[in-house]
Amino acid sequence: MRCGKIVCVGQNYREHIKELKNEEPTEPVLFLKPSTALIGNGDPIFIPAGIGRVDHEIELALVLGRPGKNIPKDKALGHVSSVAVFNDVTARDMQNAHRKVGLPWSLCKGMDTFAPMSEPIPLSGIDDIHDLQLDLRVNGQLKQNGNTRQMIFTPETLISYISRFMTLEEGDIIATGTPSGVSPIRAGDVVEATIEGVGVLRNPVKDV
Ligand code: MG
Repeated sequence: MRCGKIVCVGQNYREHIKELKNEEPTEPVLFLKPSTALIGNGDPIFIPAGIGRVDHEIELALVLGRPGKNIPKDKALGHVSSVAVFNDVTARDMQNAHRKVGLPWSLCKGMDTFAPMSEPIPLSGIDDIHDLQLDLRVNGQLKQNGNTRQMIFTPETLISYISRFMTLEEGDIIATGTPSGVSPIRAGDVVEATIEGVGVLRNPVKDV
């Protein structure tokens, strides 16, 4: 699948902020992944040699169906055509090192295959995106377990905020942040992320 830009939201669940020892943000924390990071269900996540710890992060992805700028909150979900399960794969050692010296997250978050996403399903088929259970397992073992109701900034707030500064286009993806329980993945692992009613995203992990 080709996509537009991938806008990711950092630090949007309180328990995850605590586990990474960050301060709770007063405005959404945003970063971008390149479209070349995107892979589908079943595709391998490739870990380049020598980059240290790499983590999984299960997230609800919103796929834009209509473009918009300065989208009001009450119209925001009208711009979303579909939703999907997303894994914001992160080179954590590199991120921590870069954060310490004030460098951006483009590389630690944007490597090839670091944006696995399930086949999107229409938003109209979802009862309530504010109450979806997220579960992530590595080799069958439960690691992350959360609910979209724990988000600090709701999908509507995120779309409205992002579109104040960046025009959103059809095909853009917004990854809405991860709950707690992030943990390392290594070659040979299988990562299975499930969002209730949205789908299952299963990816093996391999060395490059
Ligand atoms: Mg994330």
